[in-house]
Amino acid sequence: MSAVVAGRVDLVGGGPGPVDLMTLRAWRLLMRADVVVMDRLGPDIRPHLSPDVEVIDVGKLPGHHPVPQDEINALLVDRARRGKRVVRLKGGDPFVFGRGGEEVVACAAAGIPVDVVPGVTSAVAVPEAAGIPVTHRRVASAVHIVNGQSELTAATLAALGDPDVTTVVLMGVGALPRLVSDALHAGVPADRPVAIVERGHHPDQRTTRTTLAAVVLEAGRIGVRNPAVIVVGDVARAGMLLPDLLASDAPIGGVLR
Ligand code: SAH
Repeated sequence: MSAVVAGRVDLVGGGPGPVDLMTLRAWRLLMRADVVVMDRLGPDIRPHLSPDVEVIDVGKLPGHHPVPQDEINALLVDRARRGKRVVRLKGGDPFVFGRGGEEVVACAAAGIPVDVVPGVTSAVAVPEAAGIPVTHRRVASAVHIVNGQSELTAATLAALGDPDVTTVVLMGVGALPRLVSDALHAGVPADRPVAIVERGHHPDQRTTRTTLAAVVLEAGRIGVRNPAVIVVGDVARAGMLLPDLLASDAPIGGVLR
């Protein structure tokens, strides 16, 4: 007779940074985890965990060697097979450019019980922290979320050129010059508003408003850095909502609370 093994993996969305932007379900799972596998982005949960929890940081800094995805998958399966309750904590939502789907497949293929807990995605929450709604009545009725490291597809070009669509670019800082030059060459209007929101929901959040024509020079001039969300579309215009209230760089939650 084989032993009863309680091991399992929960892929947990940690939101854009502050611990209080996690869900209660995320918090509950973390509080009874045996192992927490965490990333660079997302909340720093370590101060809240008991010392006997095994914390494994597979964080990826740009330019540093990331832990390869198959090693992360193997780690999750290994710990669960040892009967551990494993929380795979991810920044934002696990299924928005988080490779969460691959981890689910790896666990399921190994016969490990696995579940997913949604998180507040930076694609919506980081623009929001700068007072930018990704949709807004009569301004933008659709949102296109894209990984900036990919080549511009026809769908992304159409979104960038459509005055009724907001394009949200994640992981776009390094690729910005290429993205902008490809977009301008393809005829996207140079005066499309652009906002870059760095370190959204953190005390040192910074928002830069510009246009497609000027964004590369401006980003270079002020030294834009990861992590940042780039928003293209009319919702990114300065002062679209409550101009005075939102003039500061402080996260909107901090202003209104
Ligand atoms: N799964 C995550 C996204 C992972 S991709 C989510 O749903 O949010 C990583 C990218 O997310 C970064 O390159 C950056 O574009 C964005 N990002 C995540 N947290 C951020 C933050 N606090 N401020 C600005 N950008 C952030």
